Amino acid sequence: ASSSSAPQANNGGIITQPPPPSTLRESRIATHSHIKGLGLADDGTAMDVSQGFIGQNMAREALGLHLSLLKLGKYSGRPLLLVGPPGTGKTALALALSQELGSKVPFCAMVGSEVYSGEVKKTEVLGSCFRRAIGLRIKETKEVYEGEVTELTPSEAENPLSGYGKTISHVIVGLKTVKGTKQLRLDPSVYEAIQKERVVVGDVIYIEANTGAVKRVGRSDTYASEYDLEAEEYVPLPKGDVHKRKELVQDVTLNDLDMANAKPQGGQDIMSVMGQLVKGGRTEVTDKLRKEINKVVDKYIEQGVAELVPGVLFIDEVHMLDMECFTYLNRALESPMSPYVVLASNRGICTIRGTDTDGEGIRSPHGIPIDLLDRCMIIKTSLYTKEEIYKILELRCKVENINITPQALTNLSEQGEKTSLRFVLQLLTPSNILNKTKTGNTSSVDIEDILELNDLFLDAKRSTGLLKDLEDLEKK
Ligand code: ATP
Repeated sequence: ASSSSAPQANNGGIITQPPPPSTLRESRIATHSHIKGLGLADDGTAMDVSQGFIGQNMAREALGLHLSLLKLGKYSGRPLLLVGPPGTGKTALALALSQELGSKVPFCAMVGSEVYSGEVKKTEVLGSCFRRAIGLRIKETKEVYEGEVTELTPSEAENPLSGYGKTISHVIVGLKTVKGTKQLRLDPSVYEAIQKERVVVGDVIYIEANTGAVKRVGRSDTYASEYDLEAEEYVPLPKGDVHKRKELVQDVTLNDLDMANAKPQGGQDIMSVMGQLVKGGRTEVTDKLRKEINKVVDKYIEQGVAELVPGVLFIDEVHMLDMECFTYLNRALESPMSPYVVLASNRGICTIRGTDTDGEGIRSPHGIPIDLLDRCMIIKTSLYTKEEIYKILELRCKVENINITPQALTNLSEQGEKTSLRFVLQLLTPSNILNKTKTGNTSSVDIEDILELNDLFLDAKRSTGLLKDLEDLEKK
């Protein structure tokens, strides 16, 4: 039934529908939603306020140069290291780099300490982040449904997918069924959703009976037999001139493919029915599965059906990684399937984790082994001035729809200069809530709200100062 020109791997096409994004990683990136690029002029100099970036000009220009090297293919396999105090835009710079590489280039941000989990191996955590940062652009020529929508009869209008009383219905688009030629007139909203989801002939879709929401879940050739669907559950689309060949492009990451091809337990999840690349009821992503996927990906690349899109992997607090992770990192960087890696640290000379078993660890700059450090291009970020903090705060208020007075912004930027940009950025939303609770959405956040917040929340200097005062009192 499939009319795709993409090569068929094993017993199914490659699974190209990405799973829902991880909310944790999404929310981490949401704070940078104002960053759209490095904000450089044609001659490579940093514009004062551009693409959401304010200040940090030297770092932006250095990154611009680094970007040119990447584009020339002259710097692959060698990471970039951003060094600077917390909240000086290291994550924002790495994100901007990925945006400059192209709009569909994947970006994955992780923190070094994330690798220490009780359940998952350290290299496993690193491995999955690497694969989140490697994109694959798959081009397929498919027959696309472009049928007309006809008026519904009253009884059809009542139940646009006649006979589908369940919350979720299975529909195989364009598949001839045992029952044959049952004509279906789609409700216009469902039809629109089908088009939006780029459903093609042979796709299996879910249609939510209540909302009419459409989701692509797999291909009919493998889906029907595996799930042993009843014939009545297949509904062919109206006949006529409805099939057109179209080139479709789908952007996924290698991690999306891993997830789609590893079956979640229970098999109830929509994604679980998409795993047709490798059969066998898997419950987790294993090295073996990844290798099999890599083989298929290689084949696709060779045949010109897909192209690899290296994204950016950002590892903050790189000094938290240990020797085992660094060994993994070195190896992964040499692979032809490697993203561009940006490391960040706010530490000077420190012990490399995992080398201090006998009490005497190896010390090195930023806690990074010398051989890896030698391969890095190092860029520094500096603390912001009061004026820069003011502009960044102003920008974030605009993005978050917070009305704020210039006096309140001045107060916050003065505090930011003494504490950190991160601290004052974090005060924006609470100050807005405080103001709304008091005035019921009628006035802008003002200096009184900020002062009230200062009584409620402390910055690190004040909180440690407070404890020190207590200690001194106890000593007396
Ligand atoms: P840490 O070391 O604590 O991880 P960081 O150096 O990665 O911090 P970011 O998380 O990038 O800092 O910055 C903190 C916040 O300030 C983010 O919301 C970021 O988008 C914003 N920001 C930082 N620098 C700039 C800048 N130059 N222009 C605009 N926004 C910025």
